[in-house]
Amino acid sequence: MNLLEKIVNLSKRRGFIFPGSEIYGGLANSWDYGPLGAELKKNIKDEWWKRFVHQRTDMVGLDAALMMNPKVWEASGHVAGFSDPLTECKKCHHRFRADKVTGKKCPDCGGELTEPKQFNLMFQTFMGPSQEKSSAVYLRPETAQAMFVDFKSILETTRKRLPFGIAQVGKAFRNEITPGNFIFRTREFEQMEIEYFVRPDEWEKYFEKWLKEMKKWLKDLGVSEKKLHYAEIPEGERAHYSKRTVDIEYDYPFGREELYGLAYRGDFDLQNHMKASGQDLSYADPENPKDKFVPHVIEPTWGVDRSVLVAMLEAYHEEEAPTAEKGEKEQRTVMRFPNWLAPIKVAVLPLSKKPELAKIAEPIYKELTQKFVCEYDETQSIGKRYRRQDEIGTPYCVTVDFDTIKDKAVTVRDRDTMKQKRVKIAKLGGYLGEQLAK
Ligand code: ATP
Repeated sequence: MNLLEKIVNLSKRRGFIFPGSEIYGGLANSWDYGPLGAELKKNIKDEWWKRFVHQRTDMVGLDAALMMNPKVWEASGHVAGFSDPLTECKKCHHRFRADKVTGKKCPDCGGELTEPKQFNLMFQTFMGPSQEKSSAVYLRPETAQAMFVDFKSILETTRKRLPFGIAQVGKAFRNEITPGNFIFRTREFEQMEIEYFVRPDEWEKYFEKWLKEMKKWLKDLGVSEKKLHYAEIPEGERAHYSKRTVDIEYDYPFGREELYGLAYRGDFDLQNHMKASGQDLSYADPENPKDKFVPHVIEPTWGVDRSVLVAMLEAYHEEEAPTAEKGEKEQRTVMRFPNWLAPIKVAVLPLSKKPELAKIAEPIYKELTQKFVCEYDETQSIGKRYRRQDEIGTPYCVTVDFDTIKDKAVTVRDRDTMKQKRVKIAKLGGYLGEQLAK
């Protein structure tokens, strides 16, 4: 089994991510985040929002509608140009992205491939009861456009001055020709995007700043430097309006592919929406209203699902460990998530199901849940429960045993070192808080 298969396996077995609509045989590469996956994903989105919106004075958030006026997508260029080249095998009728296959032969059966034709990736649906062309709308293929469309309202209501940015987290939809590799490429996914508005002559400085922020984010996510590549996209391959684009790529088990992107978009989007809507989307310096211009934009983009995937790939470790019961060696799988990322922070495990232990363990659990996401588990042997917590990446296990009745202390086990420490119940919350903040 390669690493990706191991992650898919663990995800299903432990409840991180399941195939979507599974009892009906699934739905082509759709995935549901189960109880642990939902926590993991939420931790990523919450940390991102805290870091880039709450902890900065130059950023504000937005939560815009998923379906927008179709004119938005005409102005942005998506109706005309958001497409991939599609080719089909004349023999087995499998379809491929022409830019992802080498040569003219079908990768599956060796049959002849058709000439590529452009296939628009936007999902279309109808608003209201009539299915006429005039009621057609698109599901947004990116979160970015709303930040340009709402630029004027945000500027007026927040009275922000340049440079400042708008951040949005949300779903995007693309009718990908070849989804696959688990949650790497799906037709429904989530993005965390920022449009950072600057004076035209200052874009280079802020581009560098955002590149630094993205590098720091990756470090904190637990991603090893050696698997990352910062690909400067050469002129000719970049969008015509962009003077600089960096694709942040990662060495996945299936090859080197994009993880995040950082692009300088000039004033392309605001200019297009100004022309199409007839609205003035320029910025005037409040101290010098004659200093009026259309801001330029730096756009850092993070894929939420690819963040989850990379975090899981990096956290996965298999190692030999002594068994809890007999001290013999066994293989353990451990997800070494950074503490902030772990779906469950603390597991409270009474040694047995005896009521005298539950009487102490339950109030401990209740108190700890005020501060941390916790789990209470009294089934199976303690060894099996430790293995389960290791596999889901819980940093600390708290065991209530028969000595607890006398010494009012519990055993705290560290996921990574497997070292155990006796801690007084009265000091437990503080101790765990300190450890988890590391
Ligand atoms: P790719 O080259 O992999 O198709 P892209 O260049 O089309 O990606 P962007 O339009 O730059 O991607 O989207 C920004 C981010 O959104 C990507 O860096 C990625 O993290 C995420 N993303 C894009 N498409 C998908 C998808 N189909 N499934 C999951 N995440 C995606």
